Amino acid sequence: MENVDQQPTEVAFIGFAERAQGIQEAATPFMKWNIIGLKQTLLSFICPFSLASLKWAIALRFGAERNLRLTIKADDGETIGSVGLALVASPQDLSESATTTHATTDGTYVRSMFVDPLAWTVFLFDANAEPQMLIPRPGHYSIWKLSANGSETNIGSFNVLLLNAIPLDASRVAAIRSDPTAAKSVRIELGCKKCSSKLRALASLEKKTEEEGYVWHEDIPDNFDCACGSTHLDVRSIKHNLHGLLGHPISGMSSPVSISPLYEQSMLLEVRRLFVQLLDRNPPEEAIQNFIQDNLILLHQFPAEKLFFKPTILTFFKADFAVLTPQKELILIEIENTKTRLMNKSGDAAQPLSHSIDQVRNWLHVVDEHRVAALIALGIDKVSSIRGVVIAGRDHSYDREHLRRLKGFDRGRVTFLTFDDMAASLASLADRFRPQRA
Ligand SMILES: [Zn+2]
Repeated sequence: MENVDQQPTEVAFIGFAERAQGIQEAATPFMKWNIIGLKQTLLSFICPFSLASLKWAIALRFGAERNLRLTIKADDGETIGSVGLALVASPQDLSESATTTHATTDGTYVRSMFVDPLAWTVFLFDANAEPQMLIPRPGHYSIWKLSANGSETNIGSFNVLLLNAIPLDASRVAAIRSDPTAAKSVRIELGCKKCSSKLRALASLEKKTEEEGYVWHEDIPDNFDCACGSTHLDVRSIKHNLHGLLGHPISGMSSPVSISPLYEQSMLLEVRRLFVQLLDRNPPEEAIQNFIQDNLILLHQFPAEKLFFKPTILTFFKADFAVLTPQKELILIEIENTKTRLMNKSGDAAQPLSHSIDQVRNWLHVVDEHRVAALIALGIDKVSSIRGVVIAGRDHSYDREHLRRLKGFDRGRVTFLTFDDMAASLASLADRFRPQRA
């Protein structure tokens, strides 16, 4: 039988994952991976961007080689960066036919694995390479394994494509404000490794601002050419798309980008407190509408790509809000007031609630009949489906079980919730919100 120790360690690049965690199965020594967003095509609003927030996914077949070096190259041969990987045998072997192996990247302990030397083993790791690897431009990139004898083997590739950011008009800004993960500002700083030239650009939800040497992104030049002449970068994607990161702080974007979050836990709790205080005063519908408009996070349960205030649907009616979701679902929202009667003593929907629901049903009918014209009026090219939401009344003063049934009742394309449901959903959002690091 062939001796495995004389074989090189084989490596295949599988892709990059947005998140990955190796976890132990119950009380056994066996490990499994929880992986989210494994991909070979990276979409980015801007270039350059850093790979530091992504996990590398590779497959390994163990041979004698224990120190690996993986290098990323652009199609023109330019080396983007490389990462070292040390495979270390564990002191305690789990069984005689297999070894537990620790892999480390540049000296950092990563994960222990249960390894069959004849099979491929999947392995994910962080590449905290220094200097960090920046992808300079869209294109095709290949990954190479460097062996101890100096030979290089191509082990895979990935693509980088640029995304176009939605313009920051009023409906886009409103949508970003309803997103708990959104950013209020995004800054990027690029520098030259050899001289002190910097490019600093900024995008924010507030109107055009410039601060601390950061220039509004649309005002930067097309290229960054440093003083010493060794760094030349095409930065048009930053100029045109930096604001895209406000609404999609792509999972853990890291240096050279820094992001200031729009919301923190304390703010969510404060909005909830003020909202409940307002509801307790039984204000007119308009006051509730205005409060929501000023605190759009209250609409976070309707994920928005665009969000419209008081949109006129043709000349037939005005909804209170309309939300276009990233899946292109259009949601028309009708706000009533806190005193809207919801139920009769029997537990059936009361006339005022039924009336609102019928009204929204009529809207849907009108939009179905005049779909194209209705979408043009909103400035939307296409929707996949349209539904309605009625928000009305308070929970207290109704029998709990009746209320639960009323809310759960299947009304087809129209759903109904109370103002208390809105407040509660903000409270549970705040619960899940991790305090932001400085
Ligand atoms: Zn320079």
